[in-house]
Amino acid sequence: MSIETAIGLETGQPYAYRQTRLVEPDWTRFPGWREVTAEQWRDAQWQRAHCVKNLRQLRELMGDLIDDRFYDDLERDQTERATMSMLVPPQMMNTMAPHTTPSGPGSLTDAFYADPVRGYMLPVFSDRRTDWPSHPHATRDSLHEHDMWAAEGLTHRYPTKVLAELLPTCPQYCGHCTRMDLVGNSTPQIQKLKLAGKPTDRLAAMLDYLRRTPEVRDVVVSGGDVANMPIARLEDFLTQLLEIENIRDIRLATKALMGMPQHWLQDDVRAGVERVARLARKRGVSVAIHTHVNHANSVTPLVAEATQAMFDAGVRDVRNQGVLLNGVNADPNALLDLCFALLDGAQIMPYYFYMCDMIPFSEHWRVSVADAQRLQHHIMGYLPGFATPRIVCDVPFVGKRWVHQLADYDHERGISYWTKNYRTSIEAADPEALTRTYEYYDPIHTLPESGQRWWEQHGRLEESALRAAETAAASRRTAALQAH
Ligand code: SF4
Repeated sequence: MSIETAIGLETGQPYAYRQTRLVEPDWTRFPGWREVTAEQWRDAQWQRAHCVKNLRQLRELMGDLIDDRFYDDLERDQTERATMSMLVPPQMMNTMAPHTTPSGPGSLTDAFYADPVRGYMLPVFSDRRTDWPSHPHATRDSLHEHDMWAAEGLTHRYPTKVLAELLPTCPQYCGHCTRMDLVGNSTPQIQKLKLAGKPTDRLAAMLDYLRRTPEVRDVVVSGGDVANMPIARLEDFLTQLLEIENIRDIRLATKALMGMPQHWLQDDVRAGVERVARLARKRGVSVAIHTHVNHANSVTPLVAEATQAMFDAGVRDVRNQGVLLNGVNADPNALLDLCFALLDGAQIMPYYFYMCDMIPFSEHWRVSVADAQRLQHHIMGYLPGFATPRIVCDVPFVGKRWVHQLADYDHERGISYWTKNYRTSIEAADPEALTRTYEYYDPIHTLPESGQRWWEQHGRLEESALRAAETAAASRRTAALQAH
């Protein structure tokens, strides 16, 4: 994105609002795409066929513009740390180091190391922490979504809403993915859980549960990413969903609106969305798209065009749920730049920023609750109220909580305590569900020295007990899936 004018630079405000004009970075600056035409670039099939999936393809694309030290760093991360396999669509690759003109061998290395989109799409070993790469309480399914499955892939956590994971793949894989337990291909570190049921049976079981559960009114149709489901099958599922009287809100989760906007610009996809939106309108149901953009550089004219296509097709709103990530956007200016790019440039509503969940090897990305509270404070007052995003903590066994909603906070050990006002689907018979406090943990490196010492003494023990418990839980889940 280029900055056209800067308004407010002389006003003395902590944040200077800038009117921006979206720009598609020039993909021909990368040696591997020197000959790629605008027509190819707009083609979703071309984008899918030219995703960067491994080191060899990255080398073919970038050539010697990046030093070996970066490639080696990336390779080590893939082997020793990565929880997600590599999958970066050209559209997203092209937003890395967008303002640096290559000028010879190695000239993009530093810009790549510093780049926010690279930081979460192509994490390297040296990005990660070496003291505590994972928090002792980090777990593969940190939100315990599988524990709350009402049918395979259908999480019933909140009283009136469910999450339907239709498929376990996406057009792009984010290094920090919360659903790293299930989504994507296995990595040397993480053997992924496999869905056991046939896709048609799983979707039928989800619909069956929703027909039997009238208190559910709101369905997040997700994955993975719904952009990876053929549009005819997605349309069929949504049409059946719209026949269920109690369903009033449908939200389609797709990071691909940003990561591969070309998908949503295809004629058959637009036509399918249009038919669904028309039917939804007739039935008084709201269909919205929830996307996932973490940095202003990702908002390009193609993203705005795809968003407009979805509005034209009759989608009621397009909202952004970003993830708060150190080194990517955990800074008031970066958050506000992103929100204004979304709102002014693409009419995407800034909605939530989630704190990065407690999954393995995520400590370098996570911020403390105290820092999240400070960020929330700093971004107030610049955006319209309706477009001011809430920073939320997804507390295990609780759900989303605004970061100021905690009940108590041990700043020394970095433990925040949270309460809730509803039972999840696994607590129907739990008399203490509504009075208990639930814990969330700050990254240890953000704590005062005394707190870090406490974790040094207790954390390793807790970690091994938790790992044993997690292994047992994973075996139970696998057995339950096989029995499904
Ligand atoms: S798009 Fe969403 S589900 Fe897919 S890898 Fe990224 S965070 Fe995970």
